[in-house]
Amino acid sequence: MAQNYQDAVAICRKVGYLDLFMTFTCNPKWFEITQYLEFIEGQNVEDRPDIITRVFKINLDELLHDLRHESHFGRVIAIVYTIKFQKRGLSHAHILLFLDSKDKCPSPADIDSILTTEIPDPHEDPIAYEDVKQFMMHESCGYANPRSPCMVNDKCTKHFPTKIYEETTIVEEGFPIYRRRNDGKTIVKIGITLDNRYVVPYNVDSLVKYQSQLNVE
Ligand SMILES: [Zn+2]
Repeated sequence: MAQNYQDAVAICRKVGYLDLFMTFTCNPKWFEITQYLEFIEGQNVEDRPDIITRVFKINLDELLHDLRHESHFGRVIAIVYTIKFQKRGLSHAHILLFLDSKDKCPSPADIDSILTTEIPDPHEDPIAYEDVKQFMMHESCGYANPRSPCMVNDKCTKHFPTKIYEETTIVEEGFPIYRRRNDGKTIVKIGITLDNRYVVPYNVDSLVKYQSQLNVE
């Protein structure tokens, strides 16, 4: 771990700050996991960390391969990632992407082409709509669900719901505020209607391919 940490610091020193931050979480309903759980009746996901971690690593390796060679987000010159397990929680990876100097300093239009924080049109793209519903909505919290784990002192620690923003803008030090238009699209989860203010940033192609919670910021 110490060696990897030093390598990560050396990468930062050489190529500068990261450009994209992704979090990729294992989906216990992936077919490769559910088909093995069926072998023994009564066997649950939490009983088989051996299967979960292997399938997660296979998917993570595929994602890293995509990032390096498919250039969804521009030319990647370095990747740093860490895999976390929180007690018996699901495996997830935090991934830092460092882009080539030509792809750095993106405009708001570049950001909008990489990721979105809006609900897809259920008629134009029903698959993406279902995936966003399943994976990318911040669970209802606030007054509707004060017991949500994100709630501390009656406030959502993840800052949801956000405000409505008509366009993506870049504020000081290069941090963006993502476009979340009031376009009337909603998703209902556990009886609560959620709009664009509850969407976690995602890239639609990666989300549809990997069928898991996959944030891109
Ligand atoms: Zn919350």
